[in-house]
Amino acid sequence: MKIKNKINVSKPYLPNKDKYFRYIDKIWKNNHLTNFGPLSIELENRLCDYLGVKNLLLVGNGTLALQIAYKVLDIKNEVITTPFSFAATTSTLIWENIKPRFCDIDDKSFCIDTKKIEKLFSKNTSAILGVHVFGNTCDIESLQNIANKYNLKLIFDAAHAFGVKYKNKSVFCYGDISTISFHATKIFHSIEGGALVFRNKDYLDEAKSIINFGLKNTIPEILGINAKNSEFHAAMGLCVLDDIDFIMEQRKDIWEYYFNNLKDDFDMQILNKDSTNNYHYFPILFKNEDFLLKGIEELNKNDIFPRRYFYPSLDTLPYIDTNTPCEISQNIASRILCLPLYVGLDRKIQDLIIKILKR
Ligand SMILES: *Cc1c(COP(=O)(O)O)cnc(C)c1O
Repeated sequence: MKIKNKINVSKPYLPNKDKYFRYIDKIWKNNHLTNFGPLSIELENRLCDYLGVKNLLLVGNGTLALQIAYKVLDIKNEVITTPFSFAATTSTLIWENIKPRFCDIDDKSFCIDTKKIEKLFSKNTSAILGVHVFGNTCDIESLQNIANKYNLKLIFDAAHAFGVKYKNKSVFCYGDISTISFHATKIFHSIEGGALVFRNKDYLDEAKSIINFGLKNTIPEILGINAKNSEFHAAMGLCVLDDIDFIMEQRKDIWEYYFNNLKDDFDMQILNKDSTNNYHYFPILFKNEDFLLKGIEELNKNDIFPRRYFYPSLDTLPYIDTNTPCEISQNIASRILCLPLYVGLDRKIQDLIIKILKR
């Protein structure tokens, strides 16, 4: 079979264009382009309803969401976090002059190994930053218990966890703050965008000022930045949110097809049994890096471009002071591959991917 276009690991979802333009007409009528406009407020409200959360604030992207979280919670010195994530989880810490203390991951869930956290604790530790890796919920109770015991803040980089429920509640309800990304490649997107979900309403009010230059009633009272999002982004978010059930169903179908066909050939992430799956990614583990590279080569020959996600393990980045090397994270990172998964992925292409991988 000859594939016309390159097949990448993800492809942004585009909603109905006429609908988007109707929102754009509204923006022209409102003459309100950014700064907490009506469409942004509508999107915040609809996201709260859909997700079943309170205290949600839209921001410019998921990276800024993390940085705002550190500011609001007054995070300093050291944060215990995972090396198995997207670069932004760590780079945002460094950017804010906070030192990441890497805790290795569990080789089944790929999330931070809560048994290894306490030995990394020091008097400089101010928070734990967990990641729901590929949407798979961390061991939330253990993390909260450790945070309580040592009086630490608990933040979740929940960029992958849109729509996930943990024990029948939105996963964003746990911890002090959860941050989300609405980047074009995420399940739900607004082209660029992101949000924070706060346990505490006071933090929301503080953050709202921080993302708008620290203004309070037009006076710059606290140190702030510009992390707002625009009405044009909100319009895209509103259109995509209308289609979210369809998006989830399609992804589930593709995910399950991969799973049923590959489960006997590859090791896979073990999902938290108290959580729902949002079918965001389909990662598989090869036996070793050589097999992985061979697999990628064969797929590339067929114009299929999966992604080494997450690679490399963040404790090995050149701008990191190596503290404790994380062997499990490095091992998983060296042999994990995320397969193409997006709305509209042709079943014939999926069959081809499966056939190549089985070889
Ligand atoms: C996408 C992502 C981010 C960054 O979000 P942006 O909206 O692209 O800035 C942060 N953390 C994780 C785990 C991500 O996957």
